[in-house]
Amino acid sequence: MRIVLTVWSNGVWPGGCWKSGQSGVRGMENCLFCGIISGKVKGAIVHQDETVVAFKDVNPKAPVHILIVPRKHIATLLDLEPGDEGVIEDVFRVAADVAEQVGIAKSGFRLVVNCGADAGQTVFHLHYHLLGGRRLGWPPG
Ligand code: AMP
Ligand code: ZN
Repeated sequence: MRIVLTVWSNGVWPGGCWKSGQSGVRGMENCLFCGIISGKVKGAIVHQDETVVAFKDVNPKAPVHILIVPRKHIATLLDLEPGDEGVIEDVFRVAADVAEQVGIAKSGFRLVVNCGADAGQTVFHLHYHLLGGRRLGWPPG
């Protein structure tokens, strides 16, 4: 699968992010990742296509730390709806492609979703942490 690495003249993907019915901290108003996806907030984007955007984590926990994010605003893993299967499939495809692209596919990597307080979720727009470039401890802290 070929990675799509496209830069628009204004840096903004025409599709932006998709609507969601939720509001408050879980809604897409003032959502940081919706801001990065739409181009209103600066992000170090490494991949974008119709359904998924991937950008570098601003506070990396490993030499490679990239966030794989569906364009659709889904607050948490618990908020997936029927019909979202394709989006999740796309997230995994992009994670594998990006892992190849940044050179951690052979050495190994981890794909992590934090869901809720005990997992330490801080941004309520579903995202997968792609971590690699060093030996990762198990079990996680
Ligand atoms: P989580 O704690 O699972 O919700 O992950 C949120 C992640 O977003 C953290 O790893 C943060 O370092 C990262 N983050 C916060 N702000 C930004 C930003 N502006 N650009 C990229 N990553 C960010
Ligand atoms: Zn969002």
